[in-house]
Amino acid sequence: MQIHTTVDSLRDALRSAGKVAFAPTMGNLHAGHVSLMRQARDYGDSVVASIFVNRLQFGPREDFDKYPRTFEADCNQLCEAGVAHLFAPDESVLYPTPQQYFVTPASAQDDILEGAMRPGHFRGVATVVTKLFNIVQPTAVLLGKKDYQQLMVIRNMVRELNMPIEIVGCETIRAPDGLALSSRNGYLSEQARTEAPRLFRQLQVIADAIGKGRRDYDVLESAALEHLREHGWQPDYVSVRRRSDLLPPTGNEALVIVAAARIESTRLLDNLEVA
Ligand code: AMP
Repeated sequence: MQIHTTVDSLRDALRSAGKVAFAPTMGNLHAGHVSLMRQARDYGDSVVASIFVNRLQFGPREDFDKYPRTFEADCNQLCEAGVAHLFAPDESVLYPTPQQYFVTPASAQDDILEGAMRPGHFRGVATVVTKLFNIVQPTAVLLGKKDYQQLMVIRNMVRELNMPIEIVGCETIRAPDGLALSSRNGYLSEQARTEAPRLFRQLQVIADAIGKGRRDYDVLESAALEHLREHGWQPDYVSVRRRSDLLPPTGNEALVIVAAARIESTRLLDNLEVA
């Protein structure tokens, strides 16, 4: 695997790389990231990964400084997964001057769920992935469904801005007890780690109820919120949404249940598509 820290070095190397399948990350890689890299092999001649902790998508009181940085272990995993090129720029390479131009999702997408909880987050995400897409010029980009709203925002951005890129949504990889793998799981105390799978179990409870014909989503959501609070969680939302745009369902659309909740000081995010 070649490691590139400058745009020129990566671009030179990619001239002979054929069609590129690309998976952007913030590092501290786990089996969820590795599954994106492995799937990427089916979507191009070469797999490119990036590691960049993007300050622009973190709020002022969020965990940018303490976000885990494990570069050497990450490189070993990427090598093993068949990644040909890693782009790992410093902040000074991606943002040599303060960014003056931004990609901002329309308010319908930016103001709901994660967008409402983390003002400016999707502007930071959309701006950095646009920069990365322009640098890497991939044919396909692999993103995890774990970050469901991010996947939707990027998918819609690529379509609306006519970027010639196929966006591939990949299934969430979980620990055996159901907890979705996440770099932030490393923040969990032993006790919180034991408690953490409850979030996914609540999503399953709601999905089962919908499967049995329940349509009183607000009742199901309130019960899950209450249950989480009783077990020491501070939930931000548990919500049944339509998959296409994450707005509340109005009829017979395909659904996803999305949730974000804090256990101790760690904020966990999860979702489950309703079959
Ligand atoms: P991050 O490094 O957290 O920004 O994530 C980089 C990419 O990996 C994003 O497309 C995430 O959605 C994806 N990802 C993170 N966790 C998982 C997981 N447990 N399963 C599958 N994909 C994941």
